[in-house]
Amino acid sequence: MTRAVLTCSACGVEGEHELRYAGRLLHSTCCLACGHEVRHEPHDLRIAYVHDLAHRVATKPGRLVRRARRRPASFWWDLPGAVLRQPRKLAGELRTLFRD
Ligand SMILES: [Zn+2]
Repeated sequence: MTRAVLTCSACGVEGEHELRYAGRLLHSTCCLACGHEVRHEPHDLRIAYVHDLAHRVATKPGRLVRRARRRPASFWWDLPGAVLRQPRKLAGELRTLFRD
């Protein structure tokens, strides 16, 4: 879970908030002082997620090639683990999207 210092629109406290993402999209923020949550409208977020996921998939081969050229040794070393993590990562994103 990512955290950031924001000003809460409910309690007015400038403090830590938890930021929840679905892929690269911000799903919601939660004020750790009072628990107030701000979230995207679920239908709009799901549409945006599908568009973003299509973009991620389309650009993945190019990103992999650039990473392999930049750091070939660590790229090949990390590749199996990265591939194995993808289904779990995607399942987590879908759980976040459809929890609402
Ligand atoms: Zn608050």
